[in-house]
Amino acid sequence: MVLPLNAPASKEPIEIRIKRKAQELGFAECGVSSALVPSYHDRYRDWLANGNAGEMSYLHRQEPKRGDLNEVLSGVRSVVVVAMNYYTGDVETSEGAGVVARYSRFDDYHQTMWSRLAQLTKFIEEERPGCHAKAYCDTGPVTERDLAMRAGIGWIGKHTNLIGRRLGNWFFIGELILDFDMDSDEPATTHCGTCRRCLPACPTGAITAPYNLDARRCISYLTIELKGSIPVALRPLIGNRIYGCDDCLAVCPWNKFAVKSRDQAVQPRKDLISPDLCELLGIDDLEFKNRFANSPILRTKRRCFLRNVCVALGNVGGKEALPYLTKALTDHEPLIREHAEWAIGEITRRQETDNQCI
Ligand code: SF4
Ligand code: SF4
Repeated sequence: MVLPLNAPASKEPIEIRIKRKAQELGFAECGVSSALVPSYHDRYRDWLANGNAGEMSYLHRQEPKRGDLNEVLSGVRSVVVVAMNYYTGDVETSEGAGVVARYSRFDDYHQTMWSRLAQLTKFIEEERPGCHAKAYCDTGPVTERDLAMRAGIGWIGKHTNLIGRRLGNWFFIGELILDFDMDSDEPATTHCGTCRRCLPACPTGAITAPYNLDARRCISYLTIELKGSIPVALRPLIGNRIYGCDDCLAVCPWNKFAVKSRDQAVQPRKDLISPDLCELLGIDDLEFKNRFANSPILRTKRRCFLRNVCVALGNVGGKEALPYLTKALTDHEPLIREHAEWAIGEITRRQETDNQCI
């Protein structure tokens, strides 16, 4: 929607005033969608029924609500969708270091998103006294990507994530569910065309077909959502990724339009740009809690995070990692001990092969 910049602010339609406020709050995009039944809900139900969600049982529990926004807010009429740009440029990882997905290199974005959505809610309630609003960001039973597409923010690419014409692949979304009517934006159209770059870019083959992701094979799932042992067959494919994965997003040609964000909330922490794997393996419970207090990494808990570190060391570590892994064999967490043992086996095997080649 084109903003009529010469119109007096008080005469502007509510949709425009909301968008101005969203921009003022630091959101890169803001769109409006009607509250129709999500268009791909049947497909989502099939995706769940086929077991693609792995251990994410909350997705099954939330499924009925996802089909009807009235379950979220009675009398829902429209949805405001906002996007927060987190692109801050590309960085190189040092040899032997771990890789943390871009969105996790700064403080947990949920706090920022909640705070900004709360301010936007207050603004709307002042504009429309008596209205009801409910904010969502990642955690609720809302078909967020579908709503974002219908609000014109971006389209769902073949890798199943959102892509924006101006933001590429690097943005978060949040929603305000509202109980009054507004003019909707034009829905986004799909612009993947004949491109298929993201499919072969996936190290684990998790994108089994265009628009279909088997979460059980996805490194983001394996390193963040999975609470137990990582399947042995998939460990070598994880490489040095210790929290999430960006590969399918990073190869997308639409990233050429991404503009660096100056938002302080998304500037990467130095210690998460290229973290030293051996050093990470040495952190105890208290240090983990202190160091990652405001980070999404806290969500995985120490046992799963160090499990990931062991896998990364097993894949890229050399003999310098062996003392750290040997110490981890005595960790109080069996999960860490098991993955440390696997990593020692991998490094030893590599060294034996190298020795035979000399
Ligand atoms: S995030 Fe990584 S593992 Fe998951 S689908 Fe994308 S490339 Fe594959
Ligand atoms: S890499 Fe190509 S196919 Fe994959 S999401 Fe981007 S544009 Fe679509």
